[in-house]
Amino acid sequence: MELEELRNNLESVRDSIARAAARAGRNPEDVLLLPVTKTLGADVVEQAWQLGIRQVGENKVQEILSKKEVMGEKMQFHMIGHLQRNKVHQVLDKVCLIHSVDSVRLAEEINREAEKKGLTARILLELNVAREESKYGILEEDLDALLQNLARFQHIRVEGLMTVAPFVENPEENRKIFRRMREIFIDIRQKKVNNIDMQILSMGMTNDYEIAVEEGATIVRVGTGLFGHRQKK
Ligand SMILES: *Cc1c(COP(=O)(O)O)cnc(C)c1O
Repeated sequence: MELEELRNNLESVRDSIARAAARAGRNPEDVLLLPVTKTLGADVVEQAWQLGIRQVGENKVQEILSKKEVMGEKMQFHMIGHLQRNKVHQVLDKVCLIHSVDSVRLAEEINREAEKKGLTARILLELNVAREESKYGILEEDLDALLQNLARFQHIRVEGLMTVAPFVENPEENRKIFRRMREIFIDIRQKKVNNIDMQILSMGMTNDYEIAVEEGATIVRVGTGLFGHRQKK
């Protein structure tokens, strides 16, 4: 991809975010555009860096490791995909935020590794609000129990919630999902549980990020809308 094309795409997505924020009476600066560079080469990550991007989303541990090796400390990586417990140790100190924690067992492993490495891991809990069978994430009714269990882990900090909404033709159909996410987010924030500091709502992708911003997203994860269609593997 040409640098100019990526620059234009970034500008146009940022414009749409700003307009969606304005419609909701929100400050666009409260929304982080997280470009998703999964499947793309480190050269594309470098291009994004040249255009001022300092954080990107990836969904595979191996890709984070290889791109981190090329980019070094100058780019921050978010883990947005499903994380296997046996890979936590490889990636924990290579990412600034894990969006996809959906079990006590995974959180426990993250806590253990974080303790070993002497850090506090920042995590989001992935919710499957739409109750899609094919999706990762916990169901709403299991959230309270999970939160209670996480309170004993001293080396993690739960900073918010994440969801991958269904793929729909009309993004309006996902509004109720995003709205529900925000309700849950506010509920938890009012509870004041140990290790939990609700700040981040990671929701909205290429197809529906404008609706997500209108409903309160603080991180939108956009791949195709910036980089074009990914090669199917
Ligand atoms: C791939 C991916 C995205 C970006 O999807 P696009 O539709 O290309 O914007 C966002 N979030 C997660 C978890 C992903 O895996």
